[in-house]
Amino acid sequence: MVRKLEKPLRMKIRTGDLVQIISGKDKGQRGRVQRVFPRENRVIVEGLNLVWKHQKPRRLDQKGTKIQIPAPLHASKVMLVCPHCDKPTRVGRVRGQDGKLHRVCKKCGEMIDATK
Ligand SMILES: [Zn+2]
Repeated sequence: MVRKLEKPLRMKIRTGDLVQIISGKDKGQRGRVQRVFPRENRVIVEGLNLVWKHQKPRRLDQKGTKIQIPAPLHASKVMLVCPHCDKPTRVGRVRGQDGKLHRVCKKCGEMIDATK
């Protein structure tokens, strides 16, 4: 039997979701997901988990500068904020009437993607 090396690339968090950070220095803060990295199970949240990057000068007359950019954090450190009950929640999946899988809030049971 051929062993499957890669896990299915399915994440509970998607680009554009509102999430709350549940651990680390930005704990409790909320932001929009800018990018997801399913392979690493990491997300970039806009304006949060900022780190300083040092940029080298590209030309002789330029100086190197420090810029702040959001660093990826592990998906387990963020929770999706439900657009219906406004709470950080776990995500379930149900099959809708259209036969597709939809994400649901485990707290209020509402579909999460229906509002988009
Ligand atoms: Zn909810």
